[in-house]
Amino acid sequence: MSDQASAKVHKPGDEAVIKLTNVNKWYGKFHVLKDINLTIRKGERVVVCGPSGSGKSTMIRCVNRLEEHQAGSIVVNGTELTNDVKAIEAIRRDVGMVFQSFNLFPHLTVLENLILAPTWVKKVPRKEAIDTAMYYLGRVKIPDQAGKYPGQLSGGQQQRVAIARALCMKPDIMLFDEPTSALDPEMIKEVLDVMTELAQEGMTMVCVTHEMGFARSVADTVVFMADGSVVERNTPNELFNNPQEERTKKFLSQII
Ligand code: ADP
Ligand code: MG
Repeated sequence: MSDQASAKVHKPGDEAVIKLTNVNKWYGKFHVLKDINLTIRKGERVVVCGPSGSGKSTMIRCVNRLEEHQAGSIVVNGTELTNDVKAIEAIRRDVGMVFQSFNLFPHLTVLENLILAPTWVKKVPRKEAIDTAMYYLGRVKIPDQAGKYPGQLSGGQQQRVAIARALCMKPDIMLFDEPTSALDPEMIKEVLDVMTELAQEGMTMVCVTHEMGFARSVADTVVFMADGSVVERNTPNELFNNPQEERTKKFLSQII
């Protein structure tokens, strides 16, 4: 199941699971997010692209409160992100995140990395957490690496562990911030394959990536950001073949 038609078997529902309304954020005096309006529906697969420094990471980090916005509202799974710690915890339980730099705990084995949050945050019994961890290590095709330390794995394997670790929390939504940018070319595909499988199963996904092949085959929606604003959003076909804005055209001409 990797051709375009089968990748899009699941159609997104109508229910909004992430809704950003007039979101603004500043780093000191620097206006990094400018009136962002973006609705993401259940099961929608969204690719976010745009030049370096345009605010892509900041925007998705605001969705699970790794960064704080100063104006506007962000509602995730019906809960508005405010300073309420309970709301933040609730949202973080529902939202998994995968970073460019893996962020695994180097002093813990792969298995220990996977069971840490389920046992501490969700109070899942250890035996059940291990079973879940082994299931997801199987899903990302490295069950044989469970006893190793992250430093003993390739970059592609480490990123697959990071994806499995996020999945062990049984999230409803997965955020990916350039998950393949730090990888050698031969490892990019193994990570994209795992992400494609998740997409085929109907996971709500927001992926910052410049892997346009992935965007074409997997995304329902591509969002183009520049200078802290959402410039344009459309289906991959329309956005890539018929961009409306000059900034989008310029960006695409540089990367495709
Ligand atoms: P992107 O992911 O699109 O490359 P970022 O969201 O990382 O963009 O950054 C957007 C802008 O905000 C950049 O100009 C960056 O230098 C700046 N920035 C990011 N993080 C911080 C921070 N913690 N403090 C100050 N400026 C920041
Ligand atoms: Mg970034």
